[in-house]
Amino acid sequence: MSAQGTPAQVYCMNILGHTFEDYMEMVKRFHGSPAPGVLIGGFMVDLAVRNLPEGILYDAICETRSCLPDAIQLLTPCTAGNAWLKVINLGRYALTLYDKDKESGHKGVRVFLDTEKVRAWPEINAWFFKLNPSKEQGRVELLRQIKEAGEAILGLQRVSVKPQFTVKQHKGRISVCPECREAYPADDGETCLSCQGNALYL
Ligand SMILES: [Zn+2]
Repeated sequence: MSAQGTPAQVYCMNILGHTFEDYMEMVKRFHGSPAPGVLIGGFMVDLAVRNLPEGILYDAICETRSCLPDAIQLLTPCTAGNAWLKVINLGRYALTLYDKDKESGHKGVRVFLDTEKVRAWPEINAWFFKLNPSKEQGRVELLRQIKEAGEAILGLQRVSVKPQFTVKQHKGRISVCPECREAYPADDGETCLSCQGNALYL
């Protein structure tokens, strides 16, 4: 069931085989609420996957920490835990799926929220640019517009990911920290990063 070659003006209302309503339930369970960003993220992942060559293994890059990583983790094999998803926080609402295979030149597709296209959808625009003082204001209409807009608010670019962002991070040798007695990557120094003044706790 490939939608490749679908004319751009025919918007696919499915999110990788899930209806919008089914996907919304998945988002509620995983994310805690049907956050607009994760819902739009579903259409973003769907568009990216449909524009990858069929059958390839891909990694993901997410350019924001908020919401969008959860859409990627819900709909693809790429998670923060298996490191197939890298969150590189550039503050842009965009994601890239790219070919894992080095020989491919790490070619992939980047999908972003197109600020020009978003203007045609007032509630999405207000949410995206944080123009509404009250979060609850227009919530029902916002979700309706997200569903109706689908991929109509998205842009797509063909990209090749720079090698330094595709490299898997190897921890190398593991030492035991002389101060806290916990294991840490020896490359971090004489003691673990926490004991070097980065303690998280009081
Ligand atoms: Zn330590």
